[in-house]
Amino acid sequence: MSIAFLDGAYLPLEEARISPLDRGFLFGDGIYEVVPSYAGSMVGFAPHIARMKSGLAAVGINLDWSETDWADLCNRLITDNGAGNLGIYLHVSRGADTKRFHGFPENIAPTVFAFAFDIAPPPIAEKALARTYKVSTARDLRWERCHIKSTALLGNVLHFQQGYEKGHGETILFNANNELTEASACNVFIVKNGIVITPPLDNQLLPGITRDIVLDVLRKDGSIPVEERIVTMDEVTSADEVWVTSSSKEIAPVIAVDDVPVGNGEVGDVWLAAQALYTAGKFNY
Ligand code: PLP
Repeated sequence: MSIAFLDGAYLPLEEARISPLDRGFLFGDGIYEVVPSYAGSMVGFAPHIARMKSGLAAVGINLDWSETDWADLCNRLITDNGAGNLGIYLHVSRGADTKRFHGFPENIAPTVFAFAFDIAPPPIAEKALARTYKVSTARDLRWERCHIKSTALLGNVLHFQQGYEKGHGETILFNANNELTEASACNVFIVKNGIVITPPLDNQLLPGITRDIVLDVLRKDGSIPVEERIVTMDEVTSADEVWVTSSSKEIAPVIAVDDVPVGNGEVGDVWLAAQALYTAGKFNY
């Protein structure tokens, strides 16, 4: 049984109830995070909380919680849910109104909901053990505020489903200029001639915490060059390696894009080096 948190109380997840007039339910009017935790140690707790705070500020949800409040909540959920391989889901909606009205209501308290769910063990930096992905591609039809980690994920869900229906594990997205943005629930990297390249942060993609840690561990190591710059879809399809990154996947090698092998169709050497650096450094974030 999973223990959740809802508006101040810890309770079995099955017993958690919100109002149907909660704006998170009616409008997807909320912000969320997923923080990975392995054997009781979280990865990227501080940057995850910082991103949530900036998301809440961006949409004008006022929640007076300190980083310590969030840490206490996460640690309690980790303890109560067995401290294994967990994703800690944190969700703040604008709150429950008394009517359905688009304008922000005054004087309602945000709804704070959190629970823990099992995630796969972290990847091991070994080619033979890599969890590889085959992906689809699609024109990015989401909104122009993809840097906000909004709970309004229908656009992402529909894109994920496009790939899923073809037996693929992700859908890589491109804008009207045929430039890579991200994937439905991951950031995307390519490798070409030994250089690791990912699109720069802007409103077209989520500032992924994993993306940030990958860039930082690679830059600190210094042996593999990295670039944040516009990536065209032609570069994606002619890349030596393609990776998708997220908190639960870490760095996942993509071996086929639209059923065409990436490079030689096998897990690459640069992935191996990057995942080893990520594994060694992730608990420093
Ligand atoms: N992009 C999108 C759209 C996502 O939903 C996610 C994760 O949920 C990511 C990127 C990766 O972000 P992070 O590395 O912080 O998990």
